[in-house]
Amino acid sequence: MSLDVAYSIEANDFVDPDRAYDLFWSGVITNKRAFLCPGADCAAQVTCANLDKDVQNMRVVPHFKVYGIHSEACGIANGAPVDLELEPAASDGQERRTVDQSIVDVFKLERPDSYYDEPSFEPGADVQVAKKRAKSSRPYTPRLGESGLIGPIYSVRSVVSRYIRYRSDKTLEFRRLNIAGQDVPYASIFKCIWEQDLNDLPDHPIIYYGWAFVDRTKAQNAYRIRFKKNFMRENESLVTSSFVSDALIESYKLKNLMAVRLSKIAQKPKPTAFVFLYGQPAVRTSNGKSYANFDLKNLDMIDVNYDCPLPPNYDK
Ligand SMILES: [Zn+2]
Repeated sequence: MSLDVAYSIEANDFVDPDRAYDLFWSGVITNKRAFLCPGADCAAQVTCANLDKDVQNMRVVPHFKVYGIHSEACGIANGAPVDLELEPAASDGQERRTVDQSIVDVFKLERPDSYYDEPSFEPGADVQVAKKRAKSSRPYTPRLGESGLIGPIYSVRSVVSRYIRYRSDKTLEFRRLNIAGQDVPYASIFKCIWEQDLNDLPDHPIIYYGWAFVDRTKAQNAYRIRFKKNFMRENESLVTSSFVSDALIESYKLKNLMAVRLSKIAQKPKPTAFVFLYGQPAVRTSNGKSYANFDLKNLDMIDVNYDCPLPPNYDK
């Protein structure tokens, strides 16, 4: 049985697989088996598969699996949602929305400062007590459980990961993503970089993707990510790139993940990566030549993959 949410003993918090993955690569979570069923008083052990993989694709996406036995009273075992909601049900008597209706994930461009907080866990404390305390001390969203999802998305990697998950559980058509206040269908959030004229692109940031070459800059202080395909400005073809500086990697909480991927790729005989990034290209001119460039505000806004993580129709 798979779960969307589990209680992390190490983080002392309820987490979805995306957050578990972030916390693993930032060092807060170290053991992929240190999770429990989120149900009250249930001690069924849960593992987060693929937590330690620096790859994700249609087959390798982090997810929770129960390997222990649920307590007799555990609602999760019987398919009940975990009631982690603090607010009482809406006063107009409306039922909470369920998965069969359109569900909107919110993509936030900044993580809250508390995202990677080390847990305040007393060693030796009773784990069920800690679980109860975690439940009452944080504002969780409703619909948590076997088939709900929680929390905003803070990275392009998580957008890709949820897209993959929704494709596999066949809920993609009900899913929408809210970016900068606008709801868009999941199916339409990715745009391939493929010789489009810059004037035909949206006038706001979106998620662009494509195959790119990865190498070090001459100054040896950054990775250059140069997309295989260019953007056009009328008849002029503009080399399209983004730069990931060592300083940006160093300041990033998931620097292990980012550094591992970029350095592995840059050292390959054919140093190519499948890259997603959230942004809007800008034209730069240097020595009389113009380039299209994506500025990255932080490394949550880029996802670098060894291979195309999406179905073959994206792989171009
Ligand atoms: Zn349980």
